Amino acid sequence: MPRPLVATIDIAAMQHNLAVAKARTPRAKVWAIVKANAYGHGLARGVRGFAAADGMGLIELDAAVRLRDLGWTKPILLLEGFFAPEDLAIVSRNQLEVAVHCDEQIAMIEHSGITTPLDVHLKMNSGMNRLGFTPDRFGAAYVRLRAIPTVRKITLMTHFANADDVRNPSLLLSEQVRRFQDGIAGLSGELSLSNSAATLLHPELVTDWVRPGVMLYGGTPGGKTAQEFGLLPTMTLTSEIIGTQDIATGDAVGYGSRFVADKPMKIGVVACGYADGYPRHAPDGTPIIVDGVRTAMVGRVSMDMITVDLTPVPGAHVGSAVTLWGDGVPIDEVAQAAGTIGYELMCAVAPRVQMVER
Ligand SMILES: *Cc1c(COP(=O)(O)O)cnc(C)c1O
Repeated sequence: MPRPLVATIDIAAMQHNLAVAKARTPRAKVWAIVKANAYGHGLARGVRGFAAADGMGLIELDAAVRLRDLGWTKPILLLEGFFAPEDLAIVSRNQLEVAVHCDEQIAMIEHSGITTPLDVHLKMNSGMNRLGFTPDRFGAAYVRLRAIPTVRKITLMTHFANADDVRNPSLLLSEQVRRFQDGIAGLSGELSLSNSAATLLHPELVTDWVRPGVMLYGGTPGGKTAQEFGLLPTMTLTSEIIGTQDIATGDAVGYGSRFVADKPMKIGVVACGYADGYPRHAPDGTPIIVDGVRTAMVGRVSMDMITVDLTPVPGAHVGSAVTLWGDGVPIDEVAQAAGTIGYELMCAVAPRVQMVER
């Protein structure tokens, strides 16, 4: 028998979450974001879960080609564009659309010799200071692209730093919007701005295209919980109790003896550790479900195991069912307890974890 640790992917929940995104933005077209192996869910499952999307957006060139091999015929957008001149032949052959965020990329297109039409998403740095042309240099980049005969559509794109936190004074969302509007003045093209947070929280900013990622996987980008947004968990990580210990007051559990019992307790050992993608920084008290009962992780996370308090589940035994996140215990809640975000947990599920579909 394989180790009883399984990530179950719910394709119907992926379809549902995409429908939520579409319902919130009825006039926009949707890029379903499937970077990082569809946020850890598997690219092929992304294709099935998001078949109703208008396009797929991702970062990895090899995965973009795989999308074509999987039969995806609608648009594909490389969110960071390409990295080297030789990438452009693959872009052309697979009819990929590309973000263009720097002059070096424009030069690569100019010298590429490709003859097929290339649809470009010109990216503005509207304040996040990651990728993109600043507003004052955006128009010049547009003109330079427009002069390349092979460039067809130019979509105007930016990315928000604080769509989940509009009052962040270091960079107001409204300031990013203002800079974007300044930078695109006089330029024509479709607009692409909103990630999940903007799609869910700022319908007034929705333009021609939206780019939801984490919401499609039942994660919340911040603000309300995924459930309050009507999103369903798409990944449920389950395991089993593989051992139990009855411990006395003063007994310690696990590496570093981080947890010391203040009463007699029953401890359960769960087959899942940090080498599976469970966050090693999860503190005592991180929620977990055993036999349908919510209890708490105690003791340091090991490579292959975690330990849980079975006091609220006196009937638990070797073989009892455990849910680490997903149905009944939101991934965002586990992530928050561990000082991270649901995004990181779903992306980091290790290859040794069995993945199945429901
Ligand atoms: C990852 C990504 C998104 C999706 O972000 P979420 O917060 O997961 O919705 C959108 N646009 C770009 C450019 C991205 O890289």
